[in-house]
Amino acid sequence: MPGNEAARQAEVIVVGAGLAGLAAARALVTAGVEPLVVEARDRVGGRTFTVTTPEGVALDLGAHWVGPTQRRMLALGQALGVATANTWDTGLNIQSMGGKRETYSGAIPTADPLVAADAVQAILNLNMLAMQVPVEAPWQSPNAADWDAQTCATWIEGNVAPGARPLLELAIQAVFSAEPRDLSLLHVLFYVHSAGGLRDLLGVTGAAQERRFVGGSQQIANRLASDLDQRIILGAPVNRIAWSESGVLVTSDAGDYAARRAIIAIPPTLAGRIRYAPALPGFRDQLTQRMPMGSVIKVLCVYPSAFWRRDGLTGQVSSDSGAIRITFDISPDGDAPGLLVGFIEGDEGRRWGRATAEERRVAALACLVDYFGPAAAAPTHYVEQSWAEEEWSRGCYAGCMPPGVWTTFGEALRAPIGPLHWAGTETATEWMGYMEGAVQSGERAAAETLAALGH
Ligand code: FAD
Repeated sequence: MPGNEAARQAEVIVVGAGLAGLAAARALVTAGVEPLVVEARDRVGGRTFTVTTPEGVALDLGAHWVGPTQRRMLALGQALGVATANTWDTGLNIQSMGGKRETYSGAIPTADPLVAADAVQAILNLNMLAMQVPVEAPWQSPNAADWDAQTCATWIEGNVAPGARPLLELAIQAVFSAEPRDLSLLHVLFYVHSAGGLRDLLGVTGAAQERRFVGGSQQIANRLASDLDQRIILGAPVNRIAWSESGVLVTSDAGDYAARRAIIAIPPTLAGRIRYAPALPGFRDQLTQRMPMGSVIKVLCVYPSAFWRRDGLTGQVSSDSGAIRITFDISPDGDAPGLLVGFIEGDEGRRWGRATAEERRVAALACLVDYFGPAAAAPTHYVEQSWAEEEWSRGCYAGCMPPGVWTTFGEALRAPIGPLHWAGTETATEWMGYMEGAVQSGERAAAETLAALGH
């Protein structure tokens, strides 16, 4: 390997201490291989990030929920001693569509039974198509070329009754923090299949929003890191990776690290900003030029109590206007304090990301007052995080595929190049975009690396 005698040595360098990188490092250590994890931020956890109010209330500014089929995350929580608790899901939901605020019960955000029937039909149709997509190789789907040549917006327009379209559009914005016009239909179908179905993505009880980690999700990363002890280097953005068949030399702001192989556990668009020597094949680089991150600002409001519960409300909102269009009650135990989370997603995230913090706060609270009444105007704490502004994420929840990417460049997503292996939730085949997908990808990349090292 192009040598640097002063470089710190390990058997495998892992770039990125998010859940994918940490899961990979844990699997390597378990197999008796020594990793070194090189992380740009001064903390671990990446897109999981928990802060605490002065009163001790944990606020997840990044990932929050875990669902019943996310078995790796649930097992990790158990192994690391982080308990889960159920999301409050009792009462009526609010829908605000076409300027009309109504309450409803059930999974479909409408009080109109005809619109609900159309929406259910659309969800069934989408699920049926999704199940035809092989999650390991979406480009081999029966209609891959056709599905990858259209956006999700085109499909909605051609296949969903007009009354139900806003509901489908909102569902896509909520899941991808992007607009239906941004996304390849094939990508949406793949994503739905990778989670098990659209209801698994959208629902609370029995689905992705069912539970939270008590005390915040970043604890999982923190505890994985503490088990890894001295093997993590923080504050070390990697900017160059020299590689050959015999090994890698990773250069960061904090120093150089040499190893036989590397696992790069960061979103593809960020992996594309590292300089490789020799340069990576164009096929791989052009993939990383085409996987933009979604746009989301997460808003958390703490109130003295969960006052909406007294009105018989779940705290869940679906709306087709305003900065915040989706909310949930994520109060810790009991109803004091009360905690509402609101998401500013897709075009709204892009628009409000350019406003001042004060303008955003005013717009966000105006939405909550519209949904929940005047008591929502005065939270004791208002906290927000705009993920597009984060240098080491550049957006969230995940990287997405616009039309043409899966069928043209999909094979480059996980294929190792020499000693370089790729991880990160974007490379997952189960729950891509989620913490579960991150862990799956890390474990897969570790297994690949171990096999290459002859273990
Ligand atoms: P990351 O967490 O992004 O980790 C990559 C790491 O690499 C980061 O620590 C980064 O700092 C580091 N890095 C980047 N570039 C470099 C470099 N050049 N050199 C060194 N280090 C580098 N998922 C759920 O399951 N449930 C949820 O409820 C949920 N909600 C979410 C809400 C929000 C607001 C956000 C932002 C995300 C949410 N997600 C949720 C998604 C979830 O957070 C991610 O899927 C998951 O954490 C990704 O983990 P990862 O390890 O693949 O990537």
